[in-house]
Amino acid sequence: MSATRIFLASRNRKKVAEMERILGELAPGIEVIGIDDVAAYDEPVEDQPTFEGNALLKAREGLRVTGLPSIADDSGLCVDALNGMPGVLSARWSGPALTATSGQDARNNELLLAQLADVPDERRGAHFECAVAFCHRGGEDVVHGRMSGRVIRELRGAGGFGYDGLFVADEHQDPELTSAELSSEEKDRISHRGRALRELAPIVAGVLADQEATG
Ligand code: IMP
Repeated sequence: MSATRIFLASRNRKKVAEMERILGELAPGIEVIGIDDVAAYDEPVEDQPTFEGNALLKAREGLRVTGLPSIADDSGLCVDALNGMPGVLSARWSGPALTATSGQDARNNELLLAQLADVPDERRGAHFECAVAFCHRGGEDVVHGRMSGRVIRELRGAGGFGYDGLFVADEHQDPELTSAELSSEEKDRISHRGRALRELAPIVAGVLADQEATG
């Protein structure tokens, strides 16, 4: 397949790179561009009650504005002891977004730790959830992924983003490593977003091949 551009409705450079890495395995030559690579537009407010609803909102607007096949994801951490919260509110759990993402992450992690301070180890279960929407001229697809694990009591690890430093996945072979201590490849293999994107990759590859065939 020749190089084909896909729009990802995100400003997060790590997500753009992650998406290109995973989709590229099935759709070689794919180029993923993000919001910072296109002319500024009014981004929709993520006000839906579900990950799927927010992902669709962003991907539809991406397609409308750029004319490119557009992908958007919405994800978050769902904590059992908080009845599934922060969920769709994960990014702004501790209050309205700060300009520096790292500052926001630190504040969110601090609040979550405080909220779970009295929750015993056996009730610290949680999972990351992700919905990815793909909107193109021929229609819409939505895929989902999940990574189960638990929230620990102190931050560990320098990689990843968001709540990674507080989360230990059930499936990882070393049960003490947080998501922030995994390599990108290892996290992709078990993560909510990795799973969803691997499910989406053949769908994207098929749509791009059809578009190429029909011009
Ligand atoms: P969004 O999908 O970019 O809106 O992300 C929502 C929020 O969920 C992020 O700001 C993070 O706080 C959290 N989150 C989503 N995926 C991950 C992950 O893989 N690791 C850690 N935090 C995540």
